Amino acid sequence: MSDKPLEEYLEKRDFRKTPEPSGEASGVAKKGEGPIFVIQKHDASTLHYDFRLQVGDVLKSWAVPKGPSTDPSDQRLAVPTEDHPLAYAEFEGVIPEDEYGAGAVLVWDAGFYRNLNRTDDGDEISMDDALDNGHAKFWLEGEKVRGGYALTRTGNGNDERWLLVKMDDDEADARRNPISSEPYSVLTDRTIDEIRSEESNQEDE
Ligand code: MN
Repeated sequence: MSDKPLEEYLEKRDFRKTPEPSGEASGVAKKGEGPIFVIQKHDASTLHYDFRLQVGDVLKSWAVPKGPSTDPSDQRLAVPTEDHPLAYAEFEGVIPEDEYGAGAVLVWDAGFYRNLNRTDDGDEISMDDALDNGHAKFWLEGEKVRGGYALTRTGNGNDERWLLVKMDDDEADARRNPISSEPYSVLTDRTIDEIRSEESNQEDE
């Protein structure tokens, strides 16, 4: 890993053009209720859901084409992407055409999470170590997505892929499908179409 934690994030973006945060920490992760997670619906060249977990001072990130499932029998592909700044958890808007990740972004779910990784003796394994080992479990406390989830690495190097799977607990529900039934932003109640049209109207004014 690089010594500069957000180097790849910063290199990919022109902050004179994109409204995305340039990296300063926001108040979002300083409330003392534990590390945060966010799931952003991103209507880029291909629609996907960006799943981000706070680990230290950054958001570890994966692009999940189908989004998270509440059904433990679903394995959702999760492609790792560059670390994002904590302030990104509150970003909602439209990344302009020709910029990296161009398209509308909606904060689909957000909240705190708990690390579930333990050794056989019951000692906590840090999220950093669990992710390095290729298997991390955590309990999400979102508005739409709750309960235990596991991320497991498959493949290596340029073919690195992960699977995001709901753990079989009281929050598991094979019939719920919040990706389709609950499309609204947890920040602004907007749909991704509303975000796209409202932001383009602002530009025209
Ligand atoms: Mn994305």
